[in-house]
Amino acid sequence: MSALGVASLLIPGCASSSSSAALGTPPVGFLTLPTDPPFPASVASAEQAAMVALSMVDAALAQSTFAVGGLIVETNTGRVIQAMHNNVIRKLPDEPNQVFTWDPTAHGERQLVSWYYANASKLSLPPPEELTIVTSLDPCAQCAGSIMTAGFKAGVIAYDDVAGVNYNLQANFLSLPERFRPLASETFGYYAIDPGRRHSGATQPIYSNMAVLAPTAKACLTQFEKSRTVVEQVRTTTNLTPAEMTDPATLSADSPVKTALTQRFPTAFTLRLSDYRRPDAALKQLLLDQRDASPGAKNAVALIDPFGNVVAAAPDTFDVSPINTGFMNVVEGYSQARFELAANPSTKQAGASSLTNPKYGTFVWLHAPSARDTTTIKDLGIYDLTIEGAIPVLNPSNFQYYEAPVSGTEEELLAMIQTMSTWTDPADPQRVAS
Ligand SMILES: [Zn+2]
Repeated sequence: MSALGVASLLIPGCASSSSSAALGTPPVGFLTLPTDPPFPASVASAEQAAMVALSMVDAALAQSTFAVGGLIVETNTGRVIQAMHNNVIRKLPDEPNQVFTWDPTAHGERQLVSWYYANASKLSLPPPEELTIVTSLDPCAQCAGSIMTAGFKAGVIAYDDVAGVNYNLQANFLSLPERFRPLASETFGYYAIDPGRRHSGATQPIYSNMAVLAPTAKACLTQFEKSRTVVEQVRTTTNLTPAEMTDPATLSADSPVKTALTQRFPTAFTLRLSDYRRPDAALKQLLLDQRDASPGAKNAVALIDPFGNVVAAAPDTFDVSPINTGFMNVVEGYSQARFELAANPSTKQAGASSLTNPKYGTFVWLHAPSARDTTTIKDLGIYDLTIEGAIPVLNPSNFQYYEAPVSGTEEELLAMIQTMSTWTDPADPQRVAS
């Protein structure tokens, strides 16, 4: 079976029909695996919801990925709609003792949001405002931005004092620009722990007046801490430096590497910059065309590899979901292409030697992200997750844009990055030099 065949077996709804051929197939962005634990049809207390989240945490740890999990619950009935865990790292289908990064954005909560939009109409699901995402760990910037954009409520079990939206544990959301704090205060609630802490934050999430038992809450945290060590030991995404790499442009058009990218991004390899950190007018036109071909899109983003090749380019696909920004589409598609190549022994070497971490390339945005939009909280989080470690200080930066934000100013964006720097590694967006 080809790696592609494996992926389409495992990704429900992979044959999504909502995107036009000109834009490729945006990744659906979530996984349910046959090994995922079953979940009950409903939960009647915060503790019962926490136990479902903990079962997902345990499954994530067994998969050697970050041990975080959660569930979507109908707030006024307790009906459990879906449960999921982190899938950043996955076992290779044909080599279960080996793992590889599937998608750095595949956190439990963000996948639940994506799953919701892929299924809401088919399953006649209630609107997000009537649903709570109960999560084992305080959401990171990506997940907090996704939840706020969609409009879910979030009930949180364990704190994350490093990378959580409530990192200072005060539930005052100084982690976010002022304009978003009222929304955060109505979105994120922190369950009481018995014995332990009092409830804080939003009271709208389900069972906010109930406590989670201390052993359950503690297990959510200790399993996550354990998983960080496991991930460090097993993580095997191969990130070669540019000097160690092969230029994928030298591969034949039907090579697995080019095919994996052009299936997702039809404009991959149609353009090459003479300097990979100096985006030109032709690339801007490519991004304008991408944006204009996608209904409702405001922006488009390309990833340029260290040789100057356009290896990924995508517009916002808000027809798929309100969180499907061009940047998320690029990161997901590129990462999942790398996984697909790694999952097939016959393409593993070619993938590893010609596709590396985006930090060695350049992300080029048509417009700078808007500081007035909750999707930017998410995208700044995704940038942090994608770079995997310290963000290199570079000039020109690996994060560039041609035009000012669609709404708001570049200064507002820089201020937003500064505000969020306490819990996300700061990006360094720079306007493309003319
Ligand atoms: Zn997250």
